[in-house]
Amino acid sequence: MNQEKYDVAILGSGIAGSTLAAILGRQGFRVLLLEKGTHPRFAVGEAMQPQSSMLMWILGHRFDVPEITNISSTDRILANVTKNCGVKKTFGFLYHEEGKRQDIAQSHLLVPPATPLVSESHLFRQDIDHYLCKAAIKYGADYRDKTDVQDIAFNDDGVVLRTTAGEEFQARYLVDGSGHKSLVAQKFGLREGAPELRTQSRTIFTHMKGFRRYDDTLRPDEQLGLSRGWYEGTLHHMIDGGWFWIIRFDNVPGSESDLTSVGLTLDMRKYPERGIPPEQEFNEIVARFPSIATHLEGGVAVRPWVGTGRLQFSARDSAGPRCFLMSHANGFIDALYSRGMINTFEQIHALAPRLMQALRDDDFSPERFDYPRRLQSAMIMDNDRMVFNSFRAFATFPTWNAWLRLWLMNIIFGDLRMFRICLKFLMTGDKAVFESLDADPLPLSTAPGESLVEDLYRHGDETFDRWEAGEITAEEASAAIFQNLGESNLPPIHPWSDPEACHLDFLPEKLGQMIGWGMTAASPDIARMFDFDPSVLAKLAPQPEPVPEPEAVPAMA
Ligand SMILES: Cc1cc2nc3c(=O)[nH]c(=O)nc-3n(C[C@H](O)[C@H](O)[C@H](O)COP(=O)(O)OP(=O)(O)OC[C@H]3O[C@@H](n4cnc5c(N)ncnc54)[C@H](O)[C@@H]3O)c2cc1C
Repeated sequence: MNQEKYDVAILGSGIAGSTLAAILGRQGFRVLLLEKGTHPRFAVGEAMQPQSSMLMWILGHRFDVPEITNISSTDRILANVTKNCGVKKTFGFLYHEEGKRQDIAQSHLLVPPATPLVSESHLFRQDIDHYLCKAAIKYGADYRDKTDVQDIAFNDDGVVLRTTAGEEFQARYLVDGSGHKSLVAQKFGLREGAPELRTQSRTIFTHMKGFRRYDDTLRPDEQLGLSRGWYEGTLHHMIDGGWFWIIRFDNVPGSESDLTSVGLTLDMRKYPERGIPPEQEFNEIVARFPSIATHLEGGVAVRPWVGTGRLQFSARDSAGPRCFLMSHANGFIDALYSRGMINTFEQIHALAPRLMQALRDDDFSPERFDYPRRLQSAMIMDNDRMVFNSFRAFATFPTWNAWLRLWLMNIIFGDLRMFRICLKFLMTGDKAVFESLDADPLPLSTAPGESLVEDLYRHGDETFDRWEAGEITAEEASAAIFQNLGESNLPPIHPWSDPEACHLDFLPEKLGQMIGWGMTAASPDIARMFDFDPSVLAKLAPQPEPVPEPEAVPAMA
């Protein structure tokens, strides 16, 4: 038995385990970080969202770890972390019908507002995870790689971990960041009795190089003329029963990568598993959609193709005695809309301060972790509703066109929730503002009439239930959602209820319009989020601040 007793043992040095280890180490706790494999290693989870960027910004500032803040902007990543990084300045969604050239009228290009605070990236995860692991070591975490924990035993004082090599480690608390095969979930049977999830999807993916920009496959009359193009962000090809992701790492000056992450996620209700090699299945489906085939022509896979079974899993609880499951050990829905890292980082934000207080008080009673538990469960169920309805929507363009607007509402107000906290911190320098993030109503927790976004979702979900039950047609379902949008008090930056107004270029003047509406005309649940001084934005310097490179990772434990 290793004689040292750690405050916290963390299983898994992925983006979750390493980020938490860096935070706890920086705050003076004794951390043991155990990794079954070794860095650098391949990982999926590459596209960020404004919320995941802002959460990294918040975590870095709240807990004084500038290396975490570095992940919150492409410039900072390129300057301090790795030259293998892409940019996500747009969200592109192209709807395809089998056997036909893509109709550009059936597409959505969304350009979020640029702010000097954060920017979104395509993370080449093997470099990002390695960098964060090095940061954890720099702040004192005891890191052991090639260490496969086989068994865990809890006692009144903590936990004892036993590895396949026969080593034993002890800690006062255990955090499981080991992903879906979580030892803690197995030990406590947490997968049994977990809530039923509606989404049923599986995925096929690889990294490729050698195919063209989507913009270069378009005719002049198909160019949109927005401030940015398809190539500059995460591109999605949607088909009835699935969606493709195209996440380029080569789409920004300063990147030295020539790679693109490519994946296809399939609704198992329409595409049951066929038992054929993933590459063959991918190519067969691509061949049915001429514009996707043209886009990917010349692409060569540079790593083995992966084909998964059903992606969804969850847990009936995320805490046990002296242990907690991180987001990806607790549950997962689907890569659509890049929710994984948002959930991961928000969970760390909720867990870290409570864990630190429990360690100081030597009191790990479950009530102390009540909020992170409820948050975790709410995020999974909310994400399930979002993704399940998206797969339903893919059946026709009108239903997809309607549902996408609801997702956009969720994003706009979800981003605002974080943005407001960042601005308030910049205005006051007071870290207490970060705590207020935990006071917001959880998804799915409000009664009708209390939350604009929740009401829109509930209506959309019920409308699609009626459509699936055969009570209304797809066109009627779509029309009902557009009508509801038209009757709702929404920011006047876009004709939300006009099915033909598909693209949204969030130019700076729209940000001003949105803030003006929020401060004067929004419903109370929305208006409360406009309690910041927007002039603080003008004072921000957009330059990346270099941070010294952390120490090298020891090769072995
Ligand atoms: C196909 C797919 C695509 C995705 N795309 C996106 C996206 O575009 N955007 C997004 O935000 N999210 C995405 N996600 C989600 C994202 O991947 C996760 O949120 C994120 O990777 C979770 O990080 P993690 O550190 O918790 O887990 P992981 O990255 O899985 O790391 C777990 C670590 O634990 C180690 N480990 C496992 N078992 C043990 C053990 N017994 N002992 C010690 N160590 C162990 C592993 O070796 C690994 O290093 C995607 C997920 C999938 C499945």
